[in-house]
Amino acid sequence: MPSLVCSVQNCVYNNAMYCSKGDIMVGGEGAQKCQDTCCESFQERKADSAKSSMGTPSQQIQVDCKAHNCTYNQECVCHADKITIAGAGACQCRETECVTFEEAR
Ligand code: SF4
Repeated sequence: MPSLVCSVQNCVYNNAMYCSKGDIMVGGEGAQKCQDTCCESFQERKADSAKSSMGTPSQQIQVDCKAHNCTYNQECVCHADKITIAGAGACQCRETECVTFEEAR
């Protein structure tokens, strides 16, 4: 399982740059660059839940991923040691991305 750092602090699952969801789904079928991917598990943090995060954050997380063109993707599961999801200020999943994506050659 990759260890995950996530800068999408506007997500309900984000807790001090770690994810508390337990597993995530990264989208990006046919992706050729990072910007074509996104974290489909993103859920916008609403004003009334500004302080509370859901679940317990963990460094390592199961990452299912549809970006099968990525070098780290094996049968729709991410096998990178470490990944970073970016998207500071995101309001929608498509404003996030897996910056670790690397096109397989
Ligand atoms: S590194 Fe590649 S396989 Fe892993 S989540 Fe990012 S895009 Fe998917």
